[in-house]
Amino acid sequence: MPEKKDKKTANQKIEEKLFLKRKSSWLGYTPAQEKAVFDFCDGYKKFMAECKTERLCVRFIEDSLKKAGFVDIGRAVKIRKNDRVYKKIKNKVIIACIAGSDPASFRLVGSHVDSPRLDLKPSPLYESSELALMQSHYYGGIKKYHWVNVPLSVHGVVFTKSGRQVDVHIGEKDADPKFIIPDLLPHLAQEQMKKEAPKVIEGEDLNIVAGHIPVKDDDIKEKVKFSLLKYLNDAYGIIEEDFNCAELEFVPAVKPADIGFDRGLVGAYGQDDRVCVYTSLRALLAVKNPAHAGLALFVDKEETGSYGDTGAESFMLYNFAGEFAAKSGLQVDPAAMLEKSKSVSADVTGAMDPTFQSVNDPQNVSYLGRGVSIEKYGGARGKSGTHDAHAEYMQYLRAMADRNGIPWQTGENGKIDLGGGGTIAMLLSRYGMDCVDAGPCLLGMHSTCEVASKADIYSAYLLYRAFFED
Ligand code: MN
Ligand code: MN
Repeated sequence: MPEKKDKKTANQKIEEKLFLKRKSSWLGYTPAQEKAVFDFCDGYKKFMAECKTERLCVRFIEDSLKKAGFVDIGRAVKIRKNDRVYKKIKNKVIIACIAGSDPASFRLVGSHVDSPRLDLKPSPLYESSELALMQSHYYGGIKKYHWVNVPLSVHGVVFTKSGRQVDVHIGEKDADPKFIIPDLLPHLAQEQMKKEAPKVIEGEDLNIVAGHIPVKDDDIKEKVKFSLLKYLNDAYGIIEEDFNCAELEFVPAVKPADIGFDRGLVGAYGQDDRVCVYTSLRALLAVKNPAHAGLALFVDKEETGSYGDTGAESFMLYNFAGEFAAKSGLQVDPAAMLEKSKSVSADVTGAMDPTFQSVNDPQNVSYLGRGVSIEKYGGARGKSGTHDAHAEYMQYLRAMADRNGIPWQTGENGKIDLGGGGTIAMLLSRYGMDCVDAGPCLLGMHSTCEVASKADIYSAYLLYRAFFED
């Protein structure tokens, strides 16, 4: 055996200094760090099992904030240094803030609590072929064929005619019934299989099986629908018209799980963007006395374009800044306060998929395990419709990540003429504040079970924490 040379040549030393190298975070972990990663992700999986909808996320966040001493800003008379306040908006958005020692500008991390799912149509219920079914209208960008043959659970609210709110949560417990959209059997799918993928299952085909046993009464025409409505009325006091005043969301009844023999990955529904929700929440809760006001923004409606009263398009952040400034006794215009803030749009991006490598430029894509992805811009085809972070701000974040030993990477979401994807970065940056996208990369994004690296989840947490503390 020739002796191994441990001395590097002069050029090898130069190469080491000059070349960009990104490697798996796992290679650099001590056993203690690796344990911290696994422990953190155990908490994350519990959160993901519990928080399948935006309302459930907001409930979880509010509970966590209250336990950590945050108070409703509506009840706060005066906000002092390091006070902890939050504002909940319509049970779908929550804004949490630690005033810090200089509350005149924010360090803001914004994520979204909504994920693609199947909502019900306003009048969903019908009977056909000895089944009672519910018509859905999908929410967000999905490959519709993913959502067939997958056991579903349902979460949401219904209002009775008298105005009573009924909370519905069925399908997460082992003993609970589930719901399903059966696909056509392959034996009879010759025509279906000739269709283009978006039409293999169309929007109007996403009909959810909800009941089967008919009432034994010849005078009733729709016997299965009758049984189902009778059940719903007995159990919840609701009638068919109440579906007009409801938000019932069907989501995969998939439990978060470790993926792979080595358990290095997490598979779960809704990691876009709840991985950033959990990591930024944990980061805010870990911060003690920040220099600037640390603000975690958890918004709704990102998957449908951020419009609406609970979307990032709305004035809720501006309104919060106004209330926060007034109660902090700051003589400052909320717009000016937001303008001099710094922000991270905490959202996921696509990971290099070993089976579908051709959609990415291998040199400009995020890889699982290489750390949180800090993405300068998200748009494609000439950077259309994107926020493009300044080099100055990229440098600020790089220096912060390096100072804190946080693994990070960068990339684009797909090839130039293919890819792109929206986040709330544009809506944060419109105030004039610095902003950049940063979050873990995922495989199978927007599917019923998305995959993330535990290393990247932890690295996102570390980045958001360092940012709040900076
Ligand atoms: Mn997202
Ligand atoms: Mn998304």
